[in-house]
Amino acid sequence: MTTIQEILHTKGHEVWSVTPTATVFQALELLADKRIGAVLVVESERPVGIFSERDYARKVVLEDRTARETTVADVMTSNPVCIRPEQTIDEAMALMTAKRFRHLPVIQSDRLVGLVSIGDVVKAKISEQTFAIQQLENYITS
Ligand code: AMP
Repeated sequence: MTTIQEILHTKGHEVWSVTPTATVFQALELLADKRIGAVLVVESERPVGIFSERDYARKVVLEDRTARETTVADVMTSNPVCIRPEQTIDEAMALMTAKRFRHLPVIQSDRLVGLVSIGDVVKAKISEQTFAIQQLENYITS
């Protein structure tokens, strides 16, 4: 079973982040620039929250706030649920499905080592299944 560690090995350990005092506009600029759907909110090197496109839609646009006048701290989700590198992609998919979100920071010994999205997890799952199908086809035809 593929682990979160294996995903990070392929995609890298970079995590794009903002501070809680950043404006929502600055966070959106980072999302657009890096072509990602969520940024981690970090204070004193500790993850304190997560801000995603959905927070903008639900807590800024629908609540008639403005991106330039709202801070990330006002609309982020505090204390994000995290995953460990040795956990499997099936565990990540189960967590994301049960909690209805698409991003998981990866924590090892209290240290942030990466972030995986639903896209990363689905890609890894497809590779895993493609490999299994190839093995079965080889077995059948040999
Ligand atoms: P997403 O589906 O990841 O765009 O996020 C949907 C909602 O869940 C937003 O309010 C996010 O702030 C929140 N969220 C995303 N990832 C996490 C996480 N790992 N832990 C807690 N909340 C999260």
